[in-house]
Amino acid sequence: MRRKIRTEEEKKEYQKEYIAWYQQENIEKHRLAAASHLRELRSRIFELLGDKCANCGFSDRRALQIDHKDGGGSKEIKSSESPTQYLRMIIKNLSRYQILCANCNWIKRYTHQEMLAPRGRVKIVRERPKRIYKER
Ligand SMILES: [Zn+2]
Repeated sequence: MRRKIRTEEEKKEYQKEYIAWYQQENIEKHRLAAASHLRELRSRIFELLGDKCANCGFSDRRALQIDHKDGGGSKEIKSSESPTQYLRMIIKNLSRYQILCANCNWIKRYTHQEMLAPRGRVKIVRERPKRIYKER
């Protein structure tokens, strides 16, 4: 059934409903497209930030991580609307980030006590996120 769309608001409402319907109908396709988009964004960030560990030069992307230089990355991830939005925010503020290999990143976290609660106990900073895309 077709309905007439008169106002901008009705148009937006229709688009929202259509997108929701489309995603429902194409969940798998949507998931793959979203995952691919995330990979592209992440890959662009890696290239922009030098594509290797800023500390030791390690360059196997499988063990490279985006590090917030001043810490607080977990908080940022938690407060962002989506992984895509988070990665876009990184691109806009590149100077605040660097690439570190997993070892250097953990050593930095340990040294700066980024993962310690005030009493010195390890604190779960963030709940494991729901998987919204397939790992490759
Ligand atoms: Zn390293």
